[in-house]
Amino acid sequence: MNEGLIEKVRKEVKAREEELISLCSQLIKIPSENPPGDVSNIASFVEEFLKEIGISVEVKYKVREKPNVIGYLGRGTPSLIVCGHVDTVPAGDRRHWERDPFSGDVINGWIYGRGAADMKGGVACILLAAKIISQMEFEPRSKVTIVLVPDEETGSKDGLLWLLENKLIKGKECAIAEPTGNAALESYSVDIGERGAVWIRVKVKGKAAHGSMPMLGDNAILKAYKVIEKLLVLNELRFEPPADVKEVVENIRPMYSILGIERTLDHLTVNIGIIRGGTKVNIVPDTCELEVDIRVPVGTTAENTVKEVERVLKDVKDVEYEVIAMIDPSYTSPRARVVQEAIKWASEALSKKVVGVIMPATSDAGHFRRAGIPAINLGPGYHEHVHVSNEKVKIEDLVAMCEAYSLMILSYLTE
Ligand SMILES: [Zn+2]
Repeated sequence: MNEGLIEKVRKEVKAREEELISLCSQLIKIPSENPPGDVSNIASFVEEFLKEIGISVEVKYKVREKPNVIGYLGRGTPSLIVCGHVDTVPAGDRRHWERDPFSGDVINGWIYGRGAADMKGGVACILLAAKIISQMEFEPRSKVTIVLVPDEETGSKDGLLWLLENKLIKGKECAIAEPTGNAALESYSVDIGERGAVWIRVKVKGKAAHGSMPMLGDNAILKAYKVIEKLLVLNELRFEPPADVKEVVENIRPMYSILGIERTLDHLTVNIGIIRGGTKVNIVPDTCELEVDIRVPVGTTAENTVKEVERVLKDVKDVEYEVIAMIDPSYTSPRARVVQEAIKWASEALSKKVVGVIMPATSDAGHFRRAGIPAINLGPGYHEHVHVSNEKVKIEDLVAMCEAYSLMILSYLTE
């Protein structure tokens, strides 16, 4: 890529720091809590922003108050998709906030408010990057698609999943500006893969009796306790990561071990999330229900995990279970262009080595991968500040990520 052009972009991003701050602040000031999920106002704002910079924009929706805004830079064959979601989780109890969650206040190098980290900061970076690149003079050789979606916080069925199922967006690869920073390690990563999940609901039956004579009943809670013990055995199952991500897994093992989460790299993990049983202290409970979240590392599948559940529960009597969610783990090859570009531009912009990681949780990147589009997450904000009160994003990181996205978009448009 033309060095002169790269320098020009870097200068432009630095010169527009104030614009970036004010853009992020403005996005925070437009509430888009989900639930309820109505993002009409913020979607109109981003639509207008993209129209004003003179690029072509389309709005597509399955549900009217949840529009998807799509903008196009360059022309020709679609290459990169740059994606962000404009909804946020609810602000929650105001008493836990030191200031109005929709203030977008700027204090000591940070911008505060619901969505600052997840992910209005990332959306601001995408928007300003699109503006900066649209004003550069060069001959585009491909088309970059900007996709701003609703509904991410409640499963994406009216946003990204709907767009992908109906083939309404095209591209060879995708970068999502979700927050990928870690405050404890003061570092950023590129998420190249993520675990899958199997959620199950277990029903255990017993026999009611008077609490004074428990021997006459069959306590469903005690039986559920046995079920829990059986399920926790799944924590011990280890799976070998696939050959092409082995190096990534080994590279991040020391970092994950500092965080105490290294088992997420190659083990199933089991969380007993809900237990419901009993009606009264002096009655032997006749039913007990559990909801269990089992996370699935790369190297195995959701289907295989269900088989393991079947295996450990097969000898337990009076137990029924149903699978309530099943998502396969997914990853993008570390050799994919989008991984390499994201690592290169982010490392240069942050002046610090950014590494590829496998996320413990799931994200929209998995939906892209399952639709055949290699995808990564890279964006401003620390995990520790996501979905909590006093959410914030560091201005320095915002500027660096805006530079990384501008140069990544430019690279795809010119090569
Ligand atoms: Zn998010």
